[in-house]
Amino acid sequence: MSENTKIEWADHTFNPWEGCQKVGPGCDHCYAEARNARFAGGKSVNWGPGAQRRRTSAANWKKPIAWNAAATDFMVAHGRRQRVFCASLADVFDNAVDPQWRVDLLELIAKTPHLDWLLLTKRIGNAHAMLDAALEVMSHGLTEWAEVPWPNVWIGVTVVNQEETDRDIPKLLAVPAARRFLSMEPLLGPVDFYQSSATWSAAGYMPWRNRPILGGIDWVIVGGESGAGARPMHPDWVRDLLDQCEAAGTPFLFKQWGEWAPGECATNTLDMRTVQVADWFVDDWKFDAIPGSSEFHIDDEPTLYRAGKRAAGRLLDGVEHNGFPEAS
Ligand code: SF4
Repeated sequence: MSENTKIEWADHTFNPWEGCQKVGPGCDHCYAEARNARFAGGKSVNWGPGAQRRRTSAANWKKPIAWNAAATDFMVAHGRRQRVFCASLADVFDNAVDPQWRVDLLELIAKTPHLDWLLLTKRIGNAHAMLDAALEVMSHGLTEWAEVPWPNVWIGVTVVNQEETDRDIPKLLAVPAARRFLSMEPLLGPVDFYQSSATWSAAGYMPWRNRPILGGIDWVIVGGESGAGARPMHPDWVRDLLDQCEAAGTPFLFKQWGEWAPGECATNTLDMRTVQVADWFVDDWKFDAIPGSSEFHIDDEPTLYRAGKRAAGRLLDGVEHNGFPEAS
């Protein structure tokens, strides 16, 4: 699916800069921060309040121009436009970034109309004002983002639980964009969009396009956490989100189980070693270890096995879910 990135839902990853600061539970095991430390002798020098963000090289900034130039070849090969995931090692709407860098990024986006730019943030509350501010100083003379939901800019927000969903979707709906999407990874709890809709209405937001549930959201991506310390994701949370998306007609992409997987996704390579398991009791996880044995059989109990990301895969009840919105 991907040409120059391991991200399942994008063809390229572009990082205009590197560095960030943790802003919520979804950041607890930030891959980008760990990577930053790995390349800087053990200390994540571009992370946290006051830490200098690092702009990437001029050569890196030229890559999207080359991808844009190859648009015809890509279209012939794949029958669609290229998707660029912007800022996997940072946040486009980070307050600590030099505002001129955002201006430069929007200039680049303007110069690459054959790419769909996916700006995914955990700071959606900053997005509208920062886009307006950047556009004011751009050479195009555009002063209001509201007047230019550029056809190649998709805006997404990461939400990991009900609280963040209730808080951030109204902010996402307020930002003009060709497509709006949710990345629910790592999913840390159940999310009910009916409940969110009630919260949005109470806050004065009207249902979008007369669709009360998931209205205005064009795409939902769901995934579990991987890596050391990964937290489990209950299969029922994922099934429930799939049901809600299907009811609303919203494309749904299941990216991965991550470290923990239900029985049918855990392979029998676990048979001969101690297996970490996780059971959901009422409202929290209970962890245990089952000694390995040739008699050991994986089944639906316990809720999840620590299978590892590769073995766990991305099947939900035997089905791959690869929903995408139509290109803008
Ligand atoms: S917003 Fe993203 S890049 Fe920044 S700390 Fe959180 S997970 Fe890491």
